[in-house]
Amino acid sequence: MQIDLDPEGRKVVIFGNVTGARQALRRFISSGATVTLATPGALPAITDRIGSVRYAAQPDSSDSASLLRLVGPAWLIVDAGLSEPLRRRISELAAHLQVLMINEQPAPSAGQVVLIGGGPGRIELLTLGACEALRRADVVLYDRLAPTDRLAELAPGAELINVGKSPYHHPIAQRSIEQLMIARARNGESVVRLKGGDPFVLSRGGEEMQACIAAGIPVHVVPGVTSSVAVPAAVSIPVTHRGVSRSFTVISGHTPPEPRELEGLVRLGGTIVILMGISNLTQIVAGLCRAGLNAATPAAAIERGFSDAQRSVMSPVGELPAEVRRLDICPPAVVVIGDVVAVSPQFAHSAEVIDAFGHRSRPPQARAS
Ligand code: SAH
Repeated sequence: MQIDLDPEGRKVVIFGNVTGARQALRRFISSGATVTLATPGALPAITDRIGSVRYAAQPDSSDSASLLRLVGPAWLIVDAGLSEPLRRRISELAAHLQVLMINEQPAPSAGQVVLIGGGPGRIELLTLGACEALRRADVVLYDRLAPTDRLAELAPGAELINVGKSPYHHPIAQRSIEQLMIARARNGESVVRLKGGDPFVLSRGGEEMQACIAAGIPVHVVPGVTSSVAVPAAVSIPVTHRGVSRSFTVISGHTPPEPRELEGLVRLGGTIVILMGISNLTQIVAGLCRAGLNAATPAAAIERGFSDAQRSVMSPVGELPAEVRRLDICPPAVVVIGDVVAVSPQFAHSAEVIDAFGHRSRPPQARAS
């Protein structure tokens, strides 16, 4: 059961140590609660970000007067790591005084990095694992293609840092992203590195993992829904289809592939999915046709899949570069080449395709200038 409560202006008492309770602290402070942290032992160093908290020594379970002073005026009690006898005593007292009490898993104390695949940009395509890691994050380093609209809500206790790269602009060098990730994890924080699609598909996630391992930082990977499969699906193209294609190959078009790579692709005869391929499309298609691909093979380019600005075009592959230019299809876009494209109702009938989120993908219209 989930009950939404608005803690703004309410007295919230969190039981736990600063490290374990830091995410609950940030969340309640950012939602405007008046927060007291009842913490055992000496008060540890406090960072600026949790500077507006009142601190109280955590009484032991036999000290009823002190417990009453803490629990009595509270609107909400948060257990972020209580010992069992104290938890029992406080929950009895809270029940008696009709004060709400919730349980928060203490945040891990050891720094770590979680590499998350955020999917093609739509919040519904984030995995539950990704949402859980975001919820527990202290800091999120995110990319341009990751789902960012509701990041503040998904990672309420985290500092959000945009390290996004765009095709012609690299605001933060890859090495600096890795250094930042490692430095924050060394500081004891739970660092989420949120990337578009899947972190291991044409995304340098493998390098980031290696950098963490080399630095001795624990690193976990939460796979994501890759655009190479999901974006074709947004216009009802299955990347494999029984009797039509039983393999798909994902390639980067960032730099034009070598002739022998293109020959291999054509010989394989499966579906070809190209990411980052718009600016080199003419060259790639010419190379594929030289390598023996039939220019009449169905093909599609899908721009900004799963966004409200999604547009797509489908045509024989030989005509696709000209169509992409005519319609000004821009990155980020996925190109699909193969007979599977003809499986989409949009291919033969110029039909409207409506995806699972009610998003309508109409046959292409030239972009208004
Ligand atoms: N790791 C990512 C791919 C990163 S490369 C993944 O698994 O999806 C970036 C390329 O992915 C873009 O240039 C584009 O080709 C593709 N891409 C990612 N999201 C997209 C989207 N929503 N719509 C269209 N193409 C997308």
